Amino acid sequence: MQSTAILVAGYSVEPLVDVAGAFFPLHMVFPGVTPSEWELFRSWYPETFAGPDMLYTRVTCYLVRGHGRTILVDCGVGPGPSPLFGNARGLLLQELADRGVTPDRIDTVLLTHLHPDHIGWAAQENRPTFPRARYVVSHADLEAFHQDEVRTAMQAIVPGYLDQCLTPLEAPGVLETVVDTTELAPSFTVVPSPGHTPGMLRVELDDGTTRLWLVADAFTHPAQITRTEWCSAFDMMPELAIATRKAIKERAVREGIEVMATHFPPVRGRLLQDGPSTRWEAVSP
Ligand SMILES: [Zn+2]
Repeated sequence: MQSTAILVAGYSVEPLVDVAGAFFPLHMVFPGVTPSEWELFRSWYPETFAGPDMLYTRVTCYLVRGHGRTILVDCGVGPGPSPLFGNARGLLLQELADRGVTPDRIDTVLLTHLHPDHIGWAAQENRPTFPRARYVVSHADLEAFHQDEVRTAMQAIVPGYLDQCLTPLEAPGVLETVVDTTELAPSFTVVPSPGHTPGMLRVELDDGTTRLWLVADAFTHPAQITRTEWCSAFDMMPELAIATRKAIKERAVREGIEVMATHFPPVRGRLLQDGPSTRWEAVSP
């Protein structure tokens, strides 16, 4: 799938869709939300539904090029077949190749968090897929995803993925962890946005003139912009996830910050205050 590059903060940002399709029933991802509560959002965001009780889900990675850097944000579901995603095979490497980017060109891989749809291509056959890259993840996520309880839960969702996709990155010199807000490259800062996972990071591209936030899974569905209290079944720390959503929403509305997410349509958008509620509206390139 071709997409238009977004120019912001001295970078070209290209969303790369690894997989897309009807994978998750609404009642499974948002068990506390009734069908009637979805009606408003069906009219606002028809492209995010695949049927009466089915989401249309995208898994988006981002290629960020500029300031002499070639950065990949997130690694999709991987080569597959991925049972969680209808046995789909991810397209990330093909999408990169279509843009003339071979794996050895990537200098930084940011893993916003360690869920299986974000690190699927990170390593293959016991080696990092991007051989020259430093991989970056939050210390909080790395620590959490080493706990037996979390590993068991994750293992039940996608058997073996942590061993396949994370363990090879823990060889010396590959993986760096960040604890706090950190500028990884000029005008490219990662900011802790915990809740969906204990250490999820968002990206703030900001050169003082133009800016765009890649908010990862702070919002997995745009309805959560209006209903920040709606937690997905994949929010590991619901109260913290709600607080993070509220904080991102407040700043994005107040300061007119454009945002992109992993699972929305891969176009930038703005959070618009619309009467008493807030909605996501696509911004054309
Ligand atoms: Zn995700």
